[in-house]
Amino acid sequence: MELWKLPAHSLHKLLVGGEVTAREITAAFLQRLREVDSRVQAFITVTEELALEQAREIDRRREEGEELPPLAGIPFALKDNISVRGVPTTCGSKMLENYRPVYDATVYKRLREAGAVLVGKTNMDEFAMGSSTEFSAFHKTRNPWNPERVPGGSSGGSAAAIAAGAVSFALGSDTGGSIRQPASFCGIVGLKPTYGRVSRYGVIPFASSLDQVGPMARNVTDAALVLNVISGHDRRDSTVLREPVPDYTSFLVPDVAGLRIGVPREYYAEGIEPEVSTAVWKGIRLLEKLGARVEETSLQTTSHCLSAYYIIAPAEASSNLACYDGIRYGYRAEADNLLDMYTKSRRVLGPEVRRRIMLGTYALSAGYYDAYYHKAQQVRTLIRQEFHEAFQKYDVLITPTSPTVAFKIGAKVNDPLAMYMSDVCTLAVNLAGLPAISIPCGFSQGLPIGMQIMGKPFAEGKLLQVAYTFEQETQFHKQFPPASEGVM
Ligand code: GLN
Repeated sequence: MELWKLPAHSLHKLLVGGEVTAREITAAFLQRLREVDSRVQAFITVTEELALEQAREIDRRREEGEELPPLAGIPFALKDNISVRGVPTTCGSKMLENYRPVYDATVYKRLREAGAVLVGKTNMDEFAMGSSTEFSAFHKTRNPWNPERVPGGSSGGSAAAIAAGAVSFALGSDTGGSIRQPASFCGIVGLKPTYGRVSRYGVIPFASSLDQVGPMARNVTDAALVLNVISGHDRRDSTVLREPVPDYTSFLVPDVAGLRIGVPREYYAEGIEPEVSTAVWKGIRLLEKLGARVEETSLQTTSHCLSAYYIIAPAEASSNLACYDGIRYGYRAEADNLLDMYTKSRRVLGPEVRRRIMLGTYALSAGYYDAYYHKAQQVRTLIRQEFHEAFQKYDVLITPTSPTVAFKIGAKVNDPLAMYMSDVCTLAVNLAGLPAISIPCGFSQGLPIGMQIMGKPFAEGKLLQVAYTFEQETQFHKQFPPASEGVM
């Protein structure tokens, strides 16, 4: 039996049934990781010893008769912007190459309390800015479905690690699509929770009014299990709301009877590959056949989302990244005087990060603040209102996750606007603070296509239910990248 091919909930059954040990599970994933990662390069750090030690601890607990929670002994990875005490947490940047946090992020702490086993930290675009993981300061990650293609970004390492079978699940962060778009490119499930659902304590910030951590997994059940563990109030992060956390697995019932689905036509317009639109529409028709009511609708603010996002996100980033000045932590350049030291130290940041800092500083500067930043915030309010109105009429909105399937490595790296366009379907949700999930819904040119389901605030359960219903009727999530590509 190839343990790495099994979803987390199946591994759990084997483990509690005494058919395998946590150590065997971890060893199987670590071996798989070694086989594939020289090609895929999903990881920045592999925590092999730590993983084996954590797995042994789970076996000991089981032998003592303890009832193991669902994620106990399950190998996972963290995007490298999530802090783990003593383990390098680079954020994909040379600036933090040697940074070892002195504390754990809350999401990691909770996964550890749930018994999950950390296998490594995954590659990402520097400071989570990008859509292909090509802006990592360390290396490029390849898409397990086709090594000539990007895995998406910025949580591309987490998505590729799951698709390649190196881990069972992972966490990513999503500021404008960075969980959902790579999930879509790699044929896995990715869920961006409601703003305020999941703690960001210990997560290195990019744009604080947009960032949210969420699960990436092989299937909807595993995503629900992970969301159960990471959600909920944290006294260390005042942006997490006190909203009670339901048991998300209670939503895993195949039923969409009477569900009202809105299909905003702007998400199927110019720039969306026809194969992508077709696959998503097929998915919607399937849900209709299962009892949902489908109606086309319009979200007129859609065309303004990209512009608003690329003012607000860089503005917040320019402020968040001001702390990397060579003094407090991070890289420090040798220099004769203070000013030189500042400027030389900051030059270690990559081109995309610098572009964002400049854009953001400009948008916030006196004289331009009203014209850009303030205006973008007003647009954001309109976007939020339009969604609010749409959710009076519909339970969920369904769109493609990304306008294209995974593109070729190098295709957009020198064209910022083209790169930014790959987030055109995902950004709105962050601006409005909503939850959304991407699930596999088809293939084009041998590459996965993702369907995005958006919901109202704290409707994660509803999204999981729709996604689960779809999954029960389809086989897309069961496919593994082909051996012919040499990855598997
Ligand atoms: N690709 C988008 C950006 O570059 C979103 C990134 C993210 O969600 N972290 O800003």
